[in-house]
Amino acid sequence: MEIKAIRGFNDILPDEVGKWQFVEKTVREVFESFGFAEIRIPILERTELFSRGIGEATDIVEKEMYTFTDKGGSSLTLRPEATASMARAYLEHQFYTFDPVAKLYCIGPMFRYERPQKGRYRQFYQIDAEVFGVGNPMVDAEVILMLIHFLRRVGLEKLELQINSLGCRDCRPRYRDGLKAYLTEKSFQLCEDCQRRIQANPLRIFDCKVQTCQEAIADAPKVIDFICDECSVHFNRVKEYLAMADLDYILNPRMVRGLDYYTRTAFEVVSYDLGSQNAVTGGGRYDNLFQEIGGLDIPGIGFAIGMERLISLLPKDKGLIQRSHLFIAAPGKDTHQEAYRIANQLHLEGIRAEFDYEGKSLKSQMRRADKLNARYVLILGEEELRKGRAVLRNMADKSQEEIPIDNLPDILKRKIFSD
Ligand code: ATP
Ligand code: MG
Repeated sequence: MEIKAIRGFNDILPDEVGKWQFVEKTVREVFESFGFAEIRIPILERTELFSRGIGEATDIVEKEMYTFTDKGGSSLTLRPEATASMARAYLEHQFYTFDPVAKLYCIGPMFRYERPQKGRYRQFYQIDAEVFGVGNPMVDAEVILMLIHFLRRVGLEKLELQINSLGCRDCRPRYRDGLKAYLTEKSFQLCEDCQRRIQANPLRIFDCKVQTCQEAIADAPKVIDFICDECSVHFNRVKEYLAMADLDYILNPRMVRGLDYYTRTAFEVVSYDLGSQNAVTGGGRYDNLFQEIGGLDIPGIGFAIGMERLISLLPKDKGLIQRSHLFIAAPGKDTHQEAYRIANQLHLEGIRAEFDYEGKSLKSQMRRADKLNARYVLILGEEELRKGRAVLRNMADKSQEEIPIDNLPDILKRKIFSD
């Protein structure tokens, strides 16, 4: 029986990889110029890191985690997101003893057991950036600015930045109570899941896709009307700093983000070109996460970009796959070996040269050169080879010239790297 990939797990094929590499290269350039350093964290962690960090009553922990018991009897989970692992690494390696501020990013796969559909997979990639150790609203704005700058750099334009404040440990309980009271009155209109959420995590109702639930929360109290003075001052500062950076935003009082650890500033960037899975990226401040996982009082803020959704929005001309520079067509036995020698020499010079390993007919080799979309073909004839010469054909305009083989690297470098 033919073995296929698991549902929701995708191959990223060579044709598409150019876009991925382009995005990753741009991430490194932009994030590193904002002072972020890459960190690589494991894909497996102890389950309690996520259940404590993200929160028991969240969608991720309740139903989306890939959790299993390993041979030693420990409960392990394939990471569903990166923030908790990055915070764990920061504590474990005591980054704060070196410098209280850590700006970190990572790129890699995440795993969530969700219903696969367009823009929603079980293994998907995220670009994740976090700042640990700064509570100042200036950093909230800076992180958002970096995010928007990055999205523009990769060529995304029709984007909407939405922001909200979720309050803090002091004021959010008041909001939760207010929301609970409101929802209890509307409970007959809510789906079964949401009826349960009223007690466990009422804020999650805002993310429910069921029509009647959406209607029921139309007039629900807004968290922004409940936040304390300190949270309000913080939020106003964030808005001022965004304005200073000339960033447009929309206040979305219904954006609550799915995870328990968020406090104060929350943000999302949506694209109306994406259809129903329209969030390209989301993030926010989480000043309680560290206490949940390590007992230290360290503020944090960050975001995660979904790479599949981002890549589906890229302009067509971004990250085009590089085609071969040269195909060496060599049908004879001697010329075949010469092709091998020349190709190896060119590879060391950074020239993408291909040839036919089996020494097939000239006609079939020319067909292959066409298929590979090579820019030039070097035709090695027996006669010419004896004179140390070969024919170089430009595949775009079909012009040909005879050249000395010894000069080939220089000639090609001039042609290829000058345009
Ligand atoms: P959604 O509301 O779409 O489920 P989320 O709030 O669960 O998103 P986050 O945990 O904030 O998403 O993750 C950040 C980004 O990762 C999302 O904005 C999205 O682009 C991407 N993402 C999340 N889940 C998936 C998935 N299952 N498949 C592909 N991309 C995803
Ligand atoms: Mg989700």
